Amino acid sequence: MENIWRDDDAEAMVAHYVPKGINRDLALRTYTTRLLGGEPRLVLHGGGNTSVKTRVEDLVGDVHEVLCVKGSGWDMGVIEPAGLPAVKIAPLLKARKLEKLSDEDMVTLQRANLVDPSSPNPSVEALLHAFLPHKFVDHPHSTGVLAIADLADSMARSREVFGPKMGYVPYVMPGFALAKLAADVYDQDPSVEGLILDKHGIFTFGETAREAYDRMIHYVTVAEDYVRHHGKNPFTPVTLPEGLATARDIAPMLRGAVAVNKGDGSFNRMVSVFRATPAILDFVNAAEVRDMASRGVSTPDLSIRIKTGPMVLDAPADLTAYRDHINASVAAYMEDYSAYFRDNDARDSVQRTMLDPMPRALLIPGLGLVGVGKTRKDAVIAGDVAEMAVSIITKAEAIGRFTSIRERDIFDVEYWSLEQAKLGKGAEKPLARQVVVVTGGAGAIGAATAKAFAAEGAEVAVFDLDGEKAAAVAKKLGGIGIGCDVTKPAAVQAAFAKVVQHFGGVDIVVSNAGNAWGGRIGEVSDALLRQSFELNFFSHQSVAQTAVKIMLQQKTGGCLLFNASKQAVNPGPDFGPYGLPKAATLFLSRQYALDYGAQGIRSSAVNADRIRSGLLTDEMVAKRSKARGVSEKDYMSGNLLAREVKAADVAQAFVQLALAAKTTAAVTTVDGGNIAAALR
Ligand code: ZN
Repeated sequence: MENIWRDDDAEAMVAHYVPKGINRDLALRTYTTRLLGGEPRLVLHGGGNTSVKTRVEDLVGDVHEVLCVKGSGWDMGVIEPAGLPAVKIAPLLKARKLEKLSDEDMVTLQRANLVDPSSPNPSVEALLHAFLPHKFVDHPHSTGVLAIADLADSMARSREVFGPKMGYVPYVMPGFALAKLAADVYDQDPSVEGLILDKHGIFTFGETAREAYDRMIHYVTVAEDYVRHHGKNPFTPVTLPEGLATARDIAPMLRGAVAVNKGDGSFNRMVSVFRATPAILDFVNAAEVRDMASRGVSTPDLSIRIKTGPMVLDAPADLTAYRDHINASVAAYMEDYSAYFRDNDARDSVQRTMLDPMPRALLIPGLGLVGVGKTRKDAVIAGDVAEMAVSIITKAEAIGRFTSIRERDIFDVEYWSLEQAKLGKGAEKPLARQVVVVTGGAGAIGAATAKAFAAEGAEVAVFDLDGEKAAAVAKKLGGIGIGCDVTKPAAVQAAFAKVVQHFGGVDIVVSNAGNAWGGRIGEVSDALLRQSFELNFFSHQSVAQTAVKIMLQQKTGGCLLFNASKQAVNPGPDFGPYGLPKAATLFLSRQYALDYGAQGIRSSAVNADRIRSGLLTDEMVAKRSKARGVSEKDYMSGNLLAREVKAADVAQAFVQLALAAKTTAAVTTVDGGNIAAALR
């Protein structure tokens, strides 16, 4: 592994932070923490931690000897000094004399000694850092080191590979007991440069940030070189059947299988991500894949992301039978997980609630790996973590036999309150776990709608004729932007395929793209009328049809929402080319409601009027208000409520229809009140 310490960079960090009142020690601690955290072979998603022992001054000028240690919730790759809270070290050192210290008391002790009480909780491994005497302590969960520490003969092999300058710590669950044990191992030979923690990771330490970091890179390189030199391809590839289905074909089925029916027709859904690297494919296409997946997770803290390990499916050769296979596999996984919970929960009197038993990582021969989560972000993390496990297991099998910790040890970490805290609590937003597609998503109403859905927790896909603008809108919302001409059915299908690839499926569609064409109906050209029908009617049909196909595969219902406009119910003079297809689209929304209600797919429309947008530009507003001899303000608020209706108001109407689980075939009017356009 390349050593990327640069004196210039280190000094630049010091020069940046010292004027802000951060001392040199903490600035350098921030620097190498980022170096380690930026390397996925060392640290993934909140794993790993670092510390420095230094002095800080409090508000009244008292100077304290402290441990600045990574705080919970901070990612090492982008850490700031605030992510390394200072804890007074003397009380922590006293704790080593205790026989026992519960997790809750450990957290209390650490929090009670924070110099700044608003700091995040110090790492669960803070005591281990405190008990080691060195100024700088580094601790990632390196994949190369774990390939050795996860072997059946891990302790003997670790000594062989890393030699006498490292200490060796048998597996103990992280927390107080591990901190004491690691410190005892260190005390037996204080000349060591670091520690190998069985089935867990590596510590190195030093008097300077550079020394601890150099040692880390050295030992990780030793591990990686050992694996490379001694490794052979450990797996036997199987012959895959011809004509495999694609990830796109089966993602909606998978998504449906891991959704939980809440009993009232609504679902707790999941979001999924597919990935297939050569290393993943070697693993999933191996004859040994089920054996490997059954041996547990590669480090105990992975259990909070992928539970007891991945679920394995068969290669998807026969798509008609595949749904049954998926459902049976998910049911079996849930049953195994429930039994694992029951058996281990019964070991003591602690009251626990079982977490949802759905798999978070799936291995599919021929296709790759699927990460599953409550959000796209969680699904990506599950995918990353599973990919890391694949890498560790492959390396370990190349040099020996991969062995995880015991199932009860996995359980202790998965249900450890301090680990669960990493997952974040709090009520989910009402549209969490749902994927929404908004067409015409870069326009005023589309962008406001995408934003409103994201604010309610939905995962957002923005379609627009202008792909760059779609991407810009989506980026702000953490979604995906896709360039799509909705009048081309093939383009619509391709765009939905991308959504399926990205999120696993789709639940809500806001079919919003439109454009206004005018002309006296007796004189209008056939070509113009057909052009308007293409966009203002047929595109809605093609978007809805494509979405419904995916929804039917998911079997978790869905919601279609159409922007029908006031023209659908109240024609304006010389506006036939716009109003006619919009009237057909309003009818379309009702036809979908009728034909797919039994499948739980709802369909409704929004009838909005006089919104500043690409269809009613500022210039048009100026011109029209002038023509009518009223002010722009009066023109825009020329309705019963005398209030201007904005894009955000229309967006809220779409959101409310999406939330109204018992409403379908509805039309919501958003126009400030216009009796002539009221439905009757
Ligand atoms: Zn650790």
